[in-house]
Amino acid sequence: MSSIDKNIVVISGPSGCGKDTVVKKILAMDERFVLSVSATTRQRRPIEKDGVDYIFLSTEEFTSRLSNGEFLEYTCYCDNYYGTLKKQIEDKVMAGKVVVLVIEVEGAQNVKKVYPDSLTIFLAPPSLEELERRLKNRGTEDETKIKQRLFKAKEELGFQSSYDYIVENNNVEECAQSIINIFDNRD
Ligand code: 5GP
Repeated sequence: MSSIDKNIVVISGPSGCGKDTVVKKILAMDERFVLSVSATTRQRRPIEKDGVDYIFLSTEEFTSRLSNGEFLEYTCYCDNYYGTLKKQIEDKVMAGKVVVLVIEVEGAQNVKKVYPDSLTIFLAPPSLEELERRLKNRGTEDETKIKQRLFKAKEELGFQSSYDYIVENNNVEECAQSIINIFDNRD
């Protein structure tokens, strides 16, 4: 296993399954882990900070960095670009950290191709009904976007079996701890 591979954890799961909350918990519980801050062309939500939650780019900036070969992987998700910058991974692993990528299923498959021994985890919601309830409660998307994300969620659930592990998110703390345990106990 290369040293980069074993320091990469990829977490996917449908929109609203609580990925961001679980990942924040992991980072708070264990200082070995740091987030790979993705670039996106999506509009910033009011609670998000540029450079912390995402690196917010215009479509022109994103495509220019793409043609410069700066991305490890990228995708178009619900009409916006999202991508993992190679520099995020390389710099953080070089600094001795374990990098957590919170990305959708296509991106996760692409990372696994480049880093076959990275650890991939699918975060599953307790049910689709619960997922819909969480998306509506969160209030960050309008009705059309919620429908689009729920449609995408059903598609994403079909990819669960291609992950190394599936963890159900019923409780944030337990879920974060399970992921840390999986990381510590893998071969
Ligand atoms: P959101 O708009 O809810 O923040 O993210 C939408 C989806 O894009 C989520 O599934 C999220 O994990 C995914 N995503 C965020 N960053 C990246 C990235 O760099 N690459 C890929 N492939 N997906 C990403």
